[in-house]
Amino acid sequence: MTNEPVPAKHPKPDTEPDTEPDTEADTEADLRWLNECIELSRRCPRSFTAYAVGSLIVSADGDVLATGYSRETTPHDHAEEAALAKLSPGDPRLATATIYTSLEPCTTRASRPRTCTTLILAAGIPRVVFAWQEPTLFADCTGTETLEAAGVRVTRFPELTAAAREVNAHLFKK
Ligand SMILES: [Zn+2]
Repeated sequence: MTNEPVPAKHPKPDTEPDTEPDTEADTEADLRWLNECIELSRRCPRSFTAYAVGSLIVSADGDVLATGYSRETTPHDHAEEAALAKLSPGDPRLATATIYTSLEPCTTRASRPRTCTTLILAAGIPRVVFAWQEPTLFADCTGTETLEAAGVRVTRFPELTAAAREVNAHLFKK
């Protein structure tokens, strides 16, 4: 056993892209924020034609920059859209922020021209964390693929799928 790779003892220079897996501390914070998204989704006015979703935008320093939930101010609001609408598009904190959402960001919507995936890319947010992969109930969703193709880091926590979906249980009782 002499050929084992020796772990690097020095932190990587800042110029290298971050390709390390999330640390345990990151995971804990991610799960905490995602649980807050799920709590937020309980506030959504009930709909039988759209999901109840909660979203948080969190700065690199761990400050909540904005929150949003489905139908927060009008019947067509999506959670990520509602959260992004509370920040100026040029807010420099967006460039290092993470957007958390209980459901995968949409790539198809009937009500408005810009999907949440488009809005997240336009805002320049480099990281997306979500719980529930969008089912094909209302539309096909390729949020993860589209975001990753654009260079966004996407992390999914399937262990929170059941909790995110449970808030929407009424949609599946037909
Ligand atoms: Zn959406």
